[in-house]
Amino acid sequence: MIEAQRNAARTRYARIKVFNEKCKKPMIASSGNDVPCATGSSPVCRFCGQTLRQIFIDLGMSPLANSYLTAAQLRQMEPFYPLRVYTCAHCLLVQAEEFESPSSIFTDYAYFASYSDTWLQHARAYADMAVQRFALGEQSLIIEVASNDGYLLQYFAARGIPVLGIEPAANVASVASKKGIPTMVRFFSENTARDLVAQGMTADLLVGNNVLAHVPKLNDFIRGMKIVLKPNGIITMEFPHLARLMQEEQFDTIYHEHFSYFSFIVVEEVFAAHGLTLFDVEELPTHGGSLRIYGRHSEDASKPIGQRVVTLRAWEKASGLASLQSYLSFADKVKAAKYKLLNFLIQAKREQKTIVGYGAPAKGNTLLNYCGIRSDFIDYTVDRNPHKQGHFLPGTHVPILHPDRIKESKPDYLLILPWNLKDEIMEQMRYVRDWGGRFLVPIPEVKVL
Ligand SMILES: [Zn+2]
Repeated sequence: MIEAQRNAARTRYARIKVFNEKCKKPMIASSGNDVPCATGSSPVCRFCGQTLRQIFIDLGMSPLANSYLTAAQLRQMEPFYPLRVYTCAHCLLVQAEEFESPSSIFTDYAYFASYSDTWLQHARAYADMAVQRFALGEQSLIIEVASNDGYLLQYFAARGIPVLGIEPAANVASVASKKGIPTMVRFFSENTARDLVAQGMTADLLVGNNVLAHVPKLNDFIRGMKIVLKPNGIITMEFPHLARLMQEEQFDTIYHEHFSYFSFIVVEEVFAAHGLTLFDVEELPTHGGSLRIYGRHSEDASKPIGQRVVTLRAWEKASGLASLQSYLSFADKVKAAKYKLLNFLIQAKREQKTIVGYGAPAKGNTLLNYCGIRSDFIDYTVDRNPHKQGHFLPGTHVPILHPDRIKESKPDYLLILPWNLKDEIMEQMRYVRDWGGRFLVPIPEVKVL
């Protein structure tokens, strides 16, 4: 098993190496019928095609956030890419430059949704709500894009409702298939949608959670959603809310795998451009503040636009999200958050305190790399995911160990990297208080709990 993981990691590394070789020439990314994303001198907006000139934030050079390393790889060269995010001055879509092809990033993915209890509860509650609100049953088909390890579809399947997962990471998809969740190993796109329709599969409910930000060819993806949706079908999608990212300085949710960062007013425009209307929206606490949008065909008049849409749209406009000016101060706020966190850690080390990490999420890698926090500050981190244990964080090379190690080493501080799950983690790890240990939450500003 361990050998298989090593092999997978080696393959992934080899792919990155090949990519590096190719990138001695100007980097290229999306092709096909989408807006081209030339990553040379002037990137263009992946929605409207205008040249991107306005930098939202520049987090410097960073490795791919999910490229966990083996011990052997620590002695090799490691690719770093610019982590720079722009605001499109024309349509206000906040977006990263694309440096790595999605097949390299996602075909061997280390994120398994089912390792988080909070996320499983969230999925179960969503399934209960959706079955009731949309009267789903044995005659329905639920399609989930980026279905991961079947963490969500399992709750529909348990009720006898037909489901289909679409998941490009083969290692994650195979876990879903073993649970009995039919899963197609593929990226979702206009072509995928046409193939599904040709096989007689159209969705009564089309779900996409935490995938929209990961989509490089945004227009192609949403065209596909329009195609595979039944005439009276419903789309729901969840993604981190840009307004929360900006207000709470959640800069660590920025990494290369996240191509776009959405406000409601922008996502509404993107869907509208493809004949889809958002008729409802909810604000959720997940991932530091997410939106769940409800979409339908613009032609489907059976679902009127609800008050929550009108209210959120007005709130975002009042908050300045409709004006470019509001996006210009973000970078300075992030620098201030970095200085505060480093101040705290330097002081703690001067007092001879021991600090270890909890979790090895992608967001932690942005935080640690941008702030320059390596083993000089944190001795190690731990993760419940056995696929990550025994590996090292990209860039910082902090070792990832089993959570039980904390009981042995009794650190003074536990830095919670997946701060969006801090309540769950503080409950699981409450025994650190037995020896006087404290929890550190780094975002929106460092706090001791
Ligand atoms: Zn644009």
